[in-house]
Amino acid sequence: MTDKLEVMEVYPAWQGEGTRMGSASVFVRFARCNLKCTWCDTKYAWSKELLPHEHVDLLTPDELASRILEHVNFDDVVLTGGEPLLQHDGQLCALVDRLQTANRHVTIETSGSLVPSKHLSHVDLWSYSPKLTSSGNWRSNKGRDAYWSKVVEGVTQMWDGPNVQLKFVIADTDDVVDMLDLCSRISEHTDAGIPPLMVQPVGPNSTISGGHENVERTDLDDYSFKLQELETLVKEKVLPVFPSCRVLPQLHKIIHSQARLK
Ligand code: SF4
Repeated sequence: MTDKLEVMEVYPAWQGEGTRMGSASVFVRFARCNLKCTWCDTKYAWSKELLPHEHVDLLTPDELASRILEHVNFDDVVLTGGEPLLQHDGQLCALVDRLQTANRHVTIETSGSLVPSKHLSHVDLWSYSPKLTSSGNWRSNKGRDAYWSKVVEGVTQMWDGPNVQLKFVIADTDDVVDMLDLCSRISEHTDAGIPPLMVQPVGPNSTISGGHENVERTDLDDYSFKLQELETLVKEKVLPVFPSCRVLPQLHKIIHSQARLK
């Protein structure tokens, strides 16, 4: 195990999800994940079969910050994975400090399966994306409850005003039921209720084979249909309990798809 940061890729793109959607961002994809979601679209970041063929750079916080700050007009930095919280805590913290000193807005995206160190409480935005039943990550309610108790602990620990958002990928009605259950558990533990809550449909390339994206026009039609279905589900089942819930697409998937179709 290295104490350097394990970096698979650093690239500029539009933030495609959540409250910062549309912001010009530098994405840092760290290697490794402790979950195995069936519909994961970044399996190349963690799969044993795919990882040996992918290049992983081992970088100090300063080396990585320099690479990020080369993108001078991108004020947002998104630390994602894989699972970024598997990286060395002190190194991650040093990276965040270095980026904030350079006036960057730092988001960490996490599944919530690990509770963040309190040293990271100054991160500008914690983007929690807890996984639901359709992710295939557990076989029993006990496994699910152990994971969700970490989510509740992390969210309640880090939620100080606007610096936490909750983002869910929804594949079916069971996922909506799960999400309502988890959000109720979170709101029971916070004085201020639920953080900003967003849902998005799985897909459009909901492949279980892993690897890089290859979105076709027919996939986009399917995605549009899934958004409409989700809208209906949220109206019926979520809004009566959490009226602030928003339905969003993943912007980057639409942009990338259209670029390929030109
Ligand atoms: S938590 Fe994220 S990176 Fe890990 S398997 Fe699930 S979707 Fe993929």
